[in-house]
Amino acid sequence: MFDQASPSPLQSLQHPLLERHRLRLWIKRDDLLHPRISGNKWRKLKYVLRQALTEHAQGLLSFGGAWSNHLHALAAAGQALGLPTVGIVRGEPASAANPTLSDAAAWGMALRFVSRQDYRRRQDPDWLAALAAGHSGFYLIPEGGSTALALPGVAELWRELPAVDQVILPVASGGTLAGLLTARPAGTRITGYAVLKGAGWLARTVSALYPPATLDPGWQLRLEHHGGGYAKCPAQDRQRILELAAELSVPLEPVYSGKAILGLFRDIEAGRYPAGSRLLFVHTGGLQGARGGL
Ligand SMILES: *Cc1c(COP(=O)(O)O)cnc(C)c1O
Repeated sequence: MFDQASPSPLQSLQHPLLERHRLRLWIKRDDLLHPRISGNKWRKLKYVLRQALTEHAQGLLSFGGAWSNHLHALAAAGQALGLPTVGIVRGEPASAANPTLSDAAAWGMALRFVSRQDYRRRQDPDWLAALAAGHSGFYLIPEGGSTALALPGVAELWRELPAVDQVILPVASGGTLAGLLTARPAGTRITGYAVLKGAGWLARTVSALYPPATLDPGWQLRLEHHGGGYAKCPAQDRQRILELAAELSVPLEPVYSGKAILGLFRDIEAGRYPAGSRLLFVHTGGLQGARGGL
């Protein structure tokens, strides 16, 4: 499954704003990387799952919200590998009827719903030990799949990219950004658009995953384009994302790709990207999550 993906398409984008600011913009369509395991989750899971197989794991257990791209991807991967999967879901059992969790269940994932309060303990060793006790031999993957083993799969993305001045991507837990940093070409800067509010901790999380990031001046985070918080999107932003999707002929969703592109376009308008720059936006996928009609 992880050997067969062909490179995802690379598209050149046209937009009057880009012309006005003399910028070139490409988009790496990782949303098209795999029919079920979209975008960065495919790249992040590649070596994590290889390790689980090496350890002869009896199954895979992970965490996520009711619209989690990560749980959706993990369910598909588990089915393809013939490994049972368990999803610990933050929220009410009623959300099992949504398209994300319906797919996951149809692909064999056992769903366990926990209260928001319990879910906060997802890094607490005692709670994890209690969870694991019910699933002996299962391989535990943290929320979003951001472990050290997520980085090499993401780093492989560079093999499929042309030489550019800036790579731009949406950021939540920072695993994808950290993976890109491990193999950043000297002439390419990376700018991550945080989709969570108040993500001042994010730089430390990226550095915890990849310590050399601390001393690397070639990357930055944009923290003010969160639109009010994770999965929140004011009506006028949603409208603007729909327009941008039409103008660029690229499908966007409001949680990650749409929010980050909107931030990018606002920054372009504000003159933050020098004229003549070659920019490349990574479409990290996640379109499945937009089936809720966001
Ligand atoms: C999970 C996800 C992200 C965030 O990736 P991190 O590695 O957690 O920063 C971005 N885009 C999409 C579509 C995702 O599903």
